[in-house]
Amino acid sequence: MSNPLVIERVAQDRTIERAPFEPKMRVAEINDYLLCFYDGRDIADYPAWLQSNIDMQLGVCCYVIHRGNTAVIFDTMLYKEHILWIDRYLKDMGIKNVSVINSHWDCDHIAGNFLYKDRDIISTAKTRLKIETNADLLRSGEIWAMAGDPYYPGIDDLVLPNRTFDGRMVLHLDDIEIHLIETFVHQLGHLVAYLPKDRILLAADACEDTVPFNTMAMTSDLTIQMQTYRELLAIPAERLYPCHGRFEVIANGGYTQDFTAAMLDYNIQLVKRMHEPDYLTAPLESFIGKWIDRGTLALHEPYRSLHANNVGLIRRIYGSRSKPNISD
Ligand SMILES: [Zn+2]
Repeated sequence: MSNPLVIERVAQDRTIERAPFEPKMRVAEINDYLLCFYDGRDIADYPAWLQSNIDMQLGVCCYVIHRGNTAVIFDTMLYKEHILWIDRYLKDMGIKNVSVINSHWDCDHIAGNFLYKDRDIISTAKTRLKIETNADLLRSGEIWAMAGDPYYPGIDDLVLPNRTFDGRMVLHLDDIEIHLIETFVHQLGHLVAYLPKDRILLAADACEDTVPFNTMAMTSDLTIQMQTYRELLAIPAERLYPCHGRFEVIANGGYTQDFTAAMLDYNIQLVKRMHEPDYLTAPLESFIGKWIDRGTLALHEPYRSLHANNVGLIRRIYGSRSKPNISD
């Protein structure tokens, strides 16, 4: 594993030659209509330029809902090599009609949109606006240099969602209902997808194993994010599938709502402990120990840098004021 990454702006390195890479994609057949395509975590054999990307360190995946020759891709991954690999796989399955959902505007969820520019690409209106207004950062790759990766190639063919909604939207793929639900977590405009047929929740970046990535927007309104986790907990989901989690769990039945409860509890700890003297240095285990003991979460080392980001943001925003009032 490469050195621990610090989530902060670094200078872009435009001089490097990026050695080609062939994704070592792992595929999980979750059921007869749901696939997971997973890359990352195990990246020691990949070219060095790619190992400094936090998403490759964390592990990143997307989902495909399919029936017959039609499919909906839930997020289009981080590098063009990813989506080309997935697209070949779907073509080999006989899939001809593809639509796309973007859960939110981060690179690891939209980079492959270019392959489906003449198809439906669905997101919240806020996600489209965020992509549009950050287009230069996304194209140049500077967006990732702001999160510690100097080598991200950027999305030279940036394609915006062409069907947008606010709040909720229901799609149908044959007998499968897909409820898209806008959720105030991780990034503005983020959505999750609930499939009532089998009580499956595609959680995108609402739930991450080991801890969520709280951005500036969410941290400034952390109590609303916590309320959103309570709303997610009220969804009668039996299986949860995140975009950043353990492949072994995803491939063997998925997570449960315990996962959402762990995210909520972690955020409560972030607020409760914010004025403790060792807040910035206390080990991540002290925030999530009970969830590790229960097996809900497993400590994946690169998540320490996300936790450092989370506590650092809380200190910046709330350091000189009294704590927000929260309930357990
Ligand atoms: Zn992500």
